[in-house]
Amino acid sequence: METKQYILSPKEAHDAEQQWRVVKRSVDARQRALKVHLTVLVDEKGQPIAKDDVRFTRYEVPVFQDVHNAQRSVVIIGCGPAGLFAALTLLEHGIKPIIYERGKGVSERKKDIALLNRNEGLNPESNYCFGEGGAGTFSDGKLFSRSKKRGNMQRVMELFHYFGAPDTVLYEAHAHIGSDKLPTIIKRMRECILAHGGEIHFGTKIESIKAVSRQHSAFRQTPVILAIGHSAHDTYRMLAAEGVTLETKGFAMGVRIEHPQELINRLFYFKGRNPGKPEYRNTIDLIGNASYSLVTQVDERGVYSFCMCPGGHIVPAGSEVETCVVNGMSASHRNSPYANSGMVVQINPEDIPGTDPLRGLAYQETIERLAFVHGQTPNIAPAQRMRDFVEGRASKDLPACSYLPGIVPSRLDEWLPAFIGKRLQQGFRDFDRKYPGFLTNEAVIVGVESRSSSAIRIPRDPETLQSVSTPFLYPCGEGAGYAGGITSSALDGINAALAISRL
Ligand SMILES: Cc1cc2nc3c(=O)[nH]c(=O)nc-3n(C[C@H](O)[C@H](O)[C@H](O)COP(=O)(O)OP(=O)(O)OC[C@H]3O[C@@H](n4cnc5c(N)ncnc54)[C@H](O)[C@@H]3O)c2cc1C
Repeated sequence: METKQYILSPKEAHDAEQQWRVVKRSVDARQRALKVHLTVLVDEKGQPIAKDDVRFTRYEVPVFQDVHNAQRSVVIIGCGPAGLFAALTLLEHGIKPIIYERGKGVSERKKDIALLNRNEGLNPESNYCFGEGGAGTFSDGKLFSRSKKRGNMQRVMELFHYFGAPDTVLYEAHAHIGSDKLPTIIKRMRECILAHGGEIHFGTKIESIKAVSRQHSAFRQTPVILAIGHSAHDTYRMLAAEGVTLETKGFAMGVRIEHPQELINRLFYFKGRNPGKPEYRNTIDLIGNASYSLVTQVDERGVYSFCMCPGGHIVPAGSEVETCVVNGMSASHRNSPYANSGMVVQINPEDIPGTDPLRGLAYQETIERLAFVHGQTPNIAPAQRMRDFVEGRASKDLPACSYLPGIVPSRLDEWLPAFIGKRLQQGFRDFDRKYPGFLTNEAVIVGVESRSSSAIRIPRDPETLQSVSTPFLYPCGEGAGYAGGITSSALDGINAALAISRL
């Protein structure tokens, strides 16, 4: 099918989207006036095809088989994007998925998250990281991945759409679902898995890979997909104790930063012009609040923004008591008055002394505990105004912040390891040179953003995708160190299931 690209004003693009079959959309904020690049399907005469023209199907609808009496089954540990998409793909191939998830189902999990946000304490088994849908459920739900090489990304979008994500996930360059919509989508995936004969066991933490494998391999060896995410440090330790090969991999750590969204709109959409004018407000209504992606190098390490959430909230994203970990999320409309983003420093394996493959985890934990000590029990996070942090001053007070448990002034410039703190200070100066006004005391930094990527890789054979040490074990998703984010983790789950379907 032919396509045609248009470069339109936000209003023209909005109107075109209501009528035409859009296959790609991106906002171009590089010019003085904002533009939207829209690619649409056209007929043989070059005329755009109507949005609802039934002659043109959008994608192949998945066909899930009934596996109640299937000959083959697969154990999946972890019900995040990797585990869920693996399960759905197994159903497509007539194989029964049996999922074990340490956390609770989405509705019960919501209650624990509400307690956490009211600063009434953390449930280590049910929180922003653990439970149905994994770390992806109460996230921003940004669905894009930098890597295009890992397989069929579009299929991930199609499955999300099939289970209720908005049309935009099929064509938006930086698609986004939102934490208000994700739980329903995840619930529908669960219902589909159960209706077709799969099993899901919540509140079941796997404490021995050997035991679970033995339990399910009475007649033949049952493959085990290990989709545990990167926050289950106890599970990594269990794997190491049971002889599964693990290795340290590079990761990143830093802080979360929050600016007023209006300031970010002014800097990144309107080049410093006053966004208070009615025509600008209209623009935001049409294309949403501005986001950014920033990167610089300081002393041979990358310093970069990560998981930016326009119109979002900072959330307590730890899974262990007496630690303080933050992350960000937003609802589908992205309409809070705050813009937050991780600001992290690249850490290479050689930056942490020793040879223990788990030393990256220990490093993360040390800083998370430090943040806890500098915050207030149980989840009030340590924070500092941005310019105060860069110039090494205490903040006398703090601006309003979206982080619900609350923040308390703290000298992050003094207690963050210099390896991270000094680089962040220089990184913020660099970003301000590019976007004058970015470095401001209107912004606040909140500690610590320590779980942006996995500090462990579970090496696997590139062809079979099985662990190099443990046959029939399929490490996949973010926790295996082969993916980062919802889309690539989901895709990795699909790839693990496809590898098993070929056995
Ligand atoms: C607040 C927040 C916001 C985020 N926003 C985005 C975003 O906008 N876009 C994006 O791409 N990514 C985002 N991420 C990251 C994204 O959620 C993860 O990259 C993704 O969920 C990883 O998928 P996964 O399936 O590999 O692991 P996870 O989603 O971490 O799932 C692993 C699951 O395994 C379970 N588990 C662990 N150990 C065991 C065990 N021993 N037994 C049984 N079960 C176990 C856990 O409970 C968990 O549910 C965000 C993360 C957080 C925390």
